[in-house]
Amino acid sequence: MSTKLSTGSKKTEIIAIANQKGGVGKTTTTINLATALVATRKKVLLIDMDPQGNASTGLGQERDDRDNSIYEILMGDISLADAVVPSIVPGLSLVPSTIDLVGAELELVNDSQRTYRLRKALQNPVIDQFDYVLIDCPPSLSLLTLNSLAAAHSVIVPLQCEFFALEGLSLLLRTIETVKANFNPALEIEGVVLTMFDGRNNLSSQVAGDVRGYLGSKVFKTVIPRNVRVSEAPSHGKPVLLYDHKCSGSQAYIRLARELLRRDVAKAA
Ligand code: ADP
Ligand code: MG
Repeated sequence: MSTKLSTGSKKTEIIAIANQKGGVGKTTTTINLATALVATRKKVLLIDMDPQGNASTGLGQERDDRDNSIYEILMGDISLADAVVPSIVPGLSLVPSTIDLVGAELELVNDSQRTYRLRKALQNPVIDQFDYVLIDCPPSLSLLTLNSLAAAHSVIVPLQCEFFALEGLSLLLRTIETVKANFNPALEIEGVVLTMFDGRNNLSSQVAGDVRGYLGSKVFKTVIPRNVRVSEAPSHGKPVLLYDHKCSGSQAYIRLARELLRRDVAKAA
């Protein structure tokens, strides 16, 4: 199966944001990296692959307004284009998720092609409207995460600088290798982004040093600091970049977007 998801000359970069651990900043990174990319005039689609639907809520999408969601897409009941809606951020589109998604894994158990459901759905002309598609993965290595990794060109791994972070990271890297070997040979690791970094905490700095020693240039130079404004923003249904664009968290996500764009330019050269 072809891994090229684009038609014509325009290339859409599809990036999964994954880490099997919960609470490490996947959803926060997906929402705010997407918003920062839109601020640089990129067209972005965010796909919420987590049944908890935090990315949908964090972008101002009410739960009652999610008639068409990623669940119906994965089930083959509707096409991708039917579920793309505008978000609170002008220029950022969203495919929302609902709690129905919890059932998808069991419902697809007899489908031998179940890992490719999302990849097939993304082979839709609507994708060509976007420069970036960011997929917010659930906190597990379930079928939903495998679908995301099988559909993506690359993966960004948010990593919280805490004890055991490296153990979790090596399990995820093994999973990525398995996906490459079995489902998506072209999958690349775009980078690891250190999140909720606290410079006053020795452990944070030590873990950051260990991760850089282990993965080198695969770790983004940009570090996302722990910042209370970042954690307040979702309860207002907004990315922190709209809630308080001057705070340290917002500024870090803008730098992360610039770093990603620079890397993509370097790759294309
Ligand atoms: P995940 O999607 O990996 O489960 P979240 O993005 O939902 O993680 O983040 C977990 C919690 O940490 C949320 O309450 C979020 O608001 C908070 N959080 C994430 N990043 C930061 C940060 N840089 N500073 C402060 N709080 C953060
Ligand atoms: Mg999440």
